[in-house]
Amino acid sequence: MPELPEVETTVRGIAPYISGQSIAATVIRNAQMRWPIPDKLPELLSGLTICTVSRRAKYILLDCGVGTLLLHLGMSGSLRVLPGDSLQCLELPEKHDHFDLILKNKTVLRLRDPRRFGAVLWSSVPISQHSLLKHLGPEPLTVDFNAEYLFQRLHASRSSIKQNIMNNQVVVGIGNIYANEVLFLSGINPEAIAGSIGKKRLEKLADAIKTTLQLAIEAGGSSLRDFVNSDGRPGYFQQHYWVYGRSGQSCKKCRNIIQQIKQGQRSSFYCPNCQRA
Ligand SMILES: [Zn+2]
Repeated sequence: MPELPEVETTVRGIAPYISGQSIAATVIRNAQMRWPIPDKLPELLSGLTICTVSRRAKYILLDCGVGTLLLHLGMSGSLRVLPGDSLQCLELPEKHDHFDLILKNKTVLRLRDPRRFGAVLWSSVPISQHSLLKHLGPEPLTVDFNAEYLFQRLHASRSSIKQNIMNNQVVVGIGNIYANEVLFLSGINPEAIAGSIGKKRLEKLADAIKTTLQLAIEAGGSSLRDFVNSDGRPGYFQQHYWVYGRSGQSCKKCRNIIQQIKQGQRSSFYCPNCQRA
């Protein structure tokens, strides 16, 4: 599943090709995504200019002045750019290429999504007020997200720290892989009660979240060219994890055996020696 760093890399990868460009046409081949793609979209978008491309949580936002096109990659989605001056624009769409944005300069932005959990939606209200976005917590890489914020937000919580940091209303964009990794790096057991964790440890956690996401985004930077003339999949999903997916193997810090448990249907991996409740 594309996580926040992959979505950020996608935004940086496609922005230079589509920002400032006018939309000539919109092609919907299969509207049945997580929510149906609005059928009035081609009419709405025709002639509009994409002012900016940005990201909020895992939503990709194409600000078109009078409204915003929201794209979400769901479980398996990817975006790629087919430049208008190459033979690629003659390439026939494949089975899972559900949506194209055709720009006036003939560049095509193409969404592929085999599992169709992604989304293409239009918002004419200010985007921060959209129902999918207005309750979201802070972005992890901003100054608003820090130990003090976590302490205020979590001090009354009786649920586990892992479930809290994966909750979009607490902080956005931390999926299961990164949740496992940042809890290892900050020495916190995934089952620790969020409200019982002191500020010092929350500081370590906030630092680990920022550092881990930043490193993943930087790693993705080297694959930016992959958004053009390729299948659109950044080549850096395979990373070396401290604990994720390593149950039964030895901890890279202390050689103890990594344990696996279930929390809210998701697998948690941790080192019982390095991570305290
Ligand atoms: Zn360990």
